[in-house]
Amino acid sequence: MSNRLPCSRCGVTRDIEIIERVEQVTIKGREVSYKAHYSRCLTCGDEFEAPGQLDTNLDAAREAYARLYEAPSPEALVSLRACYNASQKAFGAILGFGELTMNGYESGGTPDSTNRLLLKLAADPCTFKAMYDINSGKIGMTQRRRIEESPGYKAASSWEGLEALSRELTELQRVKVEECATRAGRTVPEQVARYVGDSSFRDYSRLMEGISWSTGVAQVIDMKSEAPAPLSVAS
Ligand SMILES: [Zn+2]
Repeated sequence: MSNRLPCSRCGVTRDIEIIERVEQVTIKGREVSYKAHYSRCLTCGDEFEAPGQLDTNLDAAREAYARLYEAPSPEALVSLRACYNASQKAFGAILGFGELTMNGYESGGTPDSTNRLLLKLAADPCTFKAMYDINSGKIGMTQRRRIEESPGYKAASSWEGLEALSRELTELQRVKVEECATRAGRTVPEQVARYVGDSSFRDYSRLMEGISWSTGVAQVIDMKSEAPAPLSVAS
């Protein structure tokens, strides 16, 4: 491939060729090799990095580092997939990979940066479940059943409670919980976790009663017992 670029040694625009060379670079104290691209003046032989090549070379060096030191190991991928009881094919489909991609990674292939990100996200059960909700139509019934019975998937479902909780609360109740959290310098999930904690279980019970009161089913149950106390949460 040839091109024309200003050559600083010649002082004029010259025909240049793109050359590729393996370079070493030290990133975070570790040496990595990567393929660097340079421009070579066809007249004087001077080699230089054109502006775009500088960025490309930096990216290539970073990617080489990430592949060596930040990519998940095949063992880690096998155990990640095992959390969700998913076959390679099903797991790949949920994350949006090609059919044989997981097999390749578990046999030592290195995921590219996009797939590394997806694999990292999939380690969080709630994110995995969100991916599953989008792509479950791409996998068979047997696989779906296996995945939905898996510890990883169930972990995500159990954490969805918090989201469900927020849907059940009235606007006023949400504001109260948020106020308590803000006053105490906590996040809302931290505040809710506190209600669940032993020391404030009474508050949590009251919170739950408040929620029950706002739903139809719970109101039927409530008619048999005394009316629930209005939501009152201590910070
Ligand atoms: Zn030159």
